[in-house]
Amino acid sequence: MLSIQNLHKQFGNLVVLDGIDLNVDKGKVVVVIGPSGSGKTTLLRCLNVLETPTKGNISIQKAHLNFGGKVAKKDIQTLRKQTGMVFQTYNLFPHMTALENVIEGPVTVQKVNKEKAKEKGIQLLQKVGLGDKVDFYPHQLSGGQQQRVGIARALAIDPEVMLFDEPTSALDPELVGEVLRVMKELANEGMTMVVVTHEMSFAKEVADEVLFMDKGQVVERGHPEEIFTHPKQERTRQFLNLIS
Ligand code: ADP
Repeated sequence: MLSIQNLHKQFGNLVVLDGIDLNVDKGKVVVVIGPSGSGKTTLLRCLNVLETPTKGNISIQKAHLNFGGKVAKKDIQTLRKQTGMVFQTYNLFPHMTALENVIEGPVTVQKVNKEKAKEKGIQLLQKVGLGDKVDFYPHQLSGGQQQRVGIARALAIDPEVMLFDEPTSALDPELVGEVLRVMKELANEGMTMVVVTHEMSFAKEVADEVLFMDKGQVVERGHPEEIFTHPKQERTRQFLNLIS
């Protein structure tokens, strides 16, 4: 479904991603963990070309992008159509209702008929438990509700892969559960997902594979059971000790 080879990203002289390889099969959930500054967010942003990788390859179904050379805009658009991104800080439009936020992508970018988009948008908001909040503005919603609108919005383009960038880290603790629940449901329904998170219980329960990153590299990867109970690398052990 999603394949990344030898992905590099530099900001000036700073090497942030130093040769990342990753394959995510259809319906699988990969959770990326690691210390702050290890490049997790940059990796996700590169997957959606919100940051342009310095070199390497990304393939998602019909999109095959080879960075380093010239990358066609059309290919970037094809890739973006297949990836739904959920941000740490929701990034909702404040002057639009929940429903308007959800249908913005399909209507403006994909030119979907507005009535059809609305119908589907309402279904998606119902799916994330916000069927009674379709006409609410972001400031009338809690952080957890706003993030669930963010998930519905990302789903509205019918992505092949959902990318979650620390989706619960801006939330008050009591609101984390409602967002993780929606993410678990999506995973159970067979959505392919790449999730950057500090929620280790989510990783243990939902991930098919956990990637531990440090200093722009994947230090260790494996089944959550393996990573959390028998980490092979010292750096992984140190990180897990710090957070537990
Ligand atoms: P993580 O998500 O693991 O905390 P990030 O991907 O956010 O790590 O950041 C990795 C490194 O890249 C950090 O040193 C950060 O300061 C740097 N970085 C991230 N974005 C930029 C940017 N736009 N310009 C310059 N440096 C950046």
